[in-house]
Amino acid sequence: MKSPKSLIRPLVHALHAYVPGEQPRIRGLIKLNTNENPYPPAPEVLEAVRQATDSRLRLYPNPTSQALRERLARLHRCQPSQIIVGNGSDELLALAVRTFVEPQGPGTTVSRSRVQYFSPSYSLYPVLAHTHGAGVNPVALGPSFEIPTVAELRRGKVWDFKAALTVVTTPNAPSGRGFPTQDLEALCQAQKGVVILDEAYVDFAKENAAALALRHPHVLVARTFSKAYSLCFQRVGYFIGHPELIDALDRMRDSYNVNGLGQVAALATLAHLPYYRACFRRIIATRERLTRSLTALGFEVFPSQTNFILTRPPGPTAEIWLGELRSRKILVRWFSQAEVRPYLRITVGSDAEADSLLKVTQQILKKYSLQAPVIQ
Ligand SMILES: *Cc1c(COP(=O)(O)O)cnc(C)c1O
Repeated sequence: MKSPKSLIRPLVHALHAYVPGEQPRIRGLIKLNTNENPYPPAPEVLEAVRQATDSRLRLYPNPTSQALRERLARLHRCQPSQIIVGNGSDELLALAVRTFVEPQGPGTTVSRSRVQYFSPSYSLYPVLAHTHGAGVNPVALGPSFEIPTVAELRRGKVWDFKAALTVVTTPNAPSGRGFPTQDLEALCQAQKGVVILDEAYVDFAKENAAALALRHPHVLVARTFSKAYSLCFQRVGYFIGHPELIDALDRMRDSYNVNGLGQVAALATLAHLPYYRACFRRIIATRERLTRSLTALGFEVFPSQTNFILTRPPGPTAEIWLGELRSRKILVRWFSQAEVRPYLRITVGSDAEADSLLKVTQQILKKYSLQAPVIQ
């Protein structure tokens, strides 16, 4: 009998799996670590899911998410053939790697087998490249997490304008910074391979780049119902793009990739957009208040176009702050990678959660004898 380990591909042994934010079940915990929406789905969405939960659960769902794609096409003023729906946008990102990128090997070039992205950005991209046996090309953002210009990328000589797949998190995670559509378009125009603009947080931003997916045949825009539409649990995301690219992705996906209740929930969501727009306005208002208050307490806070903020706390290290907050039942996110090590990423919750965070923050400042600067 062979050892089970010898049955597994060497590539899999070497993988570093994606590390999701914790989902602990601690009573009274304020969870500001995974950018979930503090507000529930619209009551009509919950009712639609309840209504659909009957003996129909034994049936397969629509295999192409047809009704949802038609509704999304109306929303984005395009054709259903320009939309693919996935089991979260994560599934579609994985599909894109398998569809557009060659695994590394003798028959291919470095560029054709490369997934390229800025650093820091969504930490799933390298994981997806590695599971596929593809190479990665992480390229640093500027010191304030700004996107380098095309001229700077050319001068820097590490950016690959021929990379098979480039993924840009916009607005960026974990920095929260938004990128002007104009700059994104200039970058897209300079790229020879496929570009995905991952707009997971775009509903909290000033502008979006959806038009680029309709204007440029090699550009895909990724959206998700998870964060802004309070549907993480249901796993629904989608891509917008040229029918040829969408068709290619469609050939690679599983036959019933989007579960039926997810399709029902997403469709109901699109029938109640004003409810969600009101939630976005509340979250943005809380984000701006939190930014001002933390700044007054001595935190460095980057301007955010998302539902989270990246901040450098005063005094002890960010890792110590993570523990201090956690012991007071507030969970935030800290990443050990070099570029973001000094910072905490804090999800913008409800106003009450922001108040708790600020209160606890003042307790911790006091413990470390850090006086808040006097506000004049
Ligand atoms: C949360 C997130 C996703 C994944 O969204 P799902 O639709 O839940 O899979 C994709 N990209 C970024 C940048 C995210 O933060």
